[in-house]
Amino acid sequence: MSDLTPKGSFERYKLRRMLKILKSKKGYHTELTSLYIPADKPISDTTNYLKQEQGQAANIKSKTTRKVVLDSITKLIQVLIKYGREVPPTGLALFSGAIPQNGPGSEKMEMYTVIPPEKIETRQYYCASEFYIEPLEDMLIEKDVYGLIVIDRSGLTLATLSGNKKNIIENMGANIPSKHHAGGQSQRRYERLIEQAAHEFYVRAGEHINNQFLDLPIQGIIIGGGGPTKEYFANGDYLDYRLKEKIIGIIDIGYSDEQGINDLIRKSQDLLHNVQLIKEKQIIQKFLSHLARDTGLVTYGEKEVRRALQMGAVDILLLSDKVDIVRVSVKCSNCGNIEEKTIKNEDLEAYEKMVSNMTCEKCNSSNMYFEDTIDLVEELGELARVSGADVEVFSTDSEEGAQFWSAFKGIGAILRYKFDN
Ligand SMILES: [Zn+2]
Repeated sequence: MSDLTPKGSFERYKLRRMLKILKSKKGYHTELTSLYIPADKPISDTTNYLKQEQGQAANIKSKTTRKVVLDSITKLIQVLIKYGREVPPTGLALFSGAIPQNGPGSEKMEMYTVIPPEKIETRQYYCASEFYIEPLEDMLIEKDVYGLIVIDRSGLTLATLSGNKKNIIENMGANIPSKHHAGGQSQRRYERLIEQAAHEFYVRAGEHINNQFLDLPIQGIIIGGGGPTKEYFANGDYLDYRLKEKIIGIIDIGYSDEQGINDLIRKSQDLLHNVQLIKEKQIIQKFLSHLARDTGLVTYGEKEVRRALQMGAVDILLLSDKVDIVRVSVKCSNCGNIEEKTIKNEDLEAYEKMVSNMTCEKCNSSNMYFEDTIDLVEELGELARVSGADVEVFSTDSEEGAQFWSAFKGIGAILRYKFDN
């Protein structure tokens, strides 16, 4: 059940989708309101704040802008009152505004509620011609921490990388004498001294790295540097074995200072991306291996997977983020009959227009109306959650992810038990 954490791929998928929708909404002036509320703030505090904002908005000169701003704030207050004391532990993000549907005069009030995957720290309130979504976008950035080491015979620099954030932790010089012998001592004795100094530097470097990195929640370590030093250091007895196990790459870099760290970050992008893909690769391989061994513990295709979900037979639901399909429901206002259908997202608009010409399968009435639409990945994901199954949403960036999309249309499941489909 590890995927129940808000950082799971399904939650990230839902947030990505929601942000795409919010981003597409544009107003004319400052009539789109965005509100972020931390969990620890009493709702009454925020509703009082909004009432003050309403007082301010009453001064807006343009009559239409004034009306829509007041309407959006009223809408926000209504939603907050509905939430009562039960603000989710990460807080709430609310967006409301009159969105033009088709040119001026076609505005329709729209309201979106987002339960953020990470904690909202401070209350923020904005009125603008678009929704303010940066705090939520920041939550989508990968937060895993990587340890970066650049080392050569001139020195060492240590840093961490989390998302796009680089943090230089330490920089130290090596103090190894140059190999150019100035004369005096014998050449061999001089070389021994140099090697002794190098060894002492590696020991010191190892101690510093161990001190800094062992206490950090590091996912992986990448080592860079020029020449053979980096391999020698990585393979020698200088690093704690727990850190050695985390080395995910050794890369040739020209410098051992901050410039070297920057080069290392640039050259590690593919490597880091692949690390993120490993988990998805493993799950898809598990799916494929069940299929190859014909264990009966996998199924795929929307219909089959939906049935398995409804029976509570799914252990892990696998979905591709490329599945651009929606589930629509059309309701008969005469008998209440609801008809559900799965269609491509791109056909949605045409389908909506068709609804008025449809007749009810049960009572033959032509009073059908478009009731609801839900993204198929979200719908199946929620079904899985209800039955206690894990949900993994994959990109097509890995070979396995691309194969899962092309061979299985991006919908599959690993089952808890066999059953006849
Ligand atoms: Zn009917």
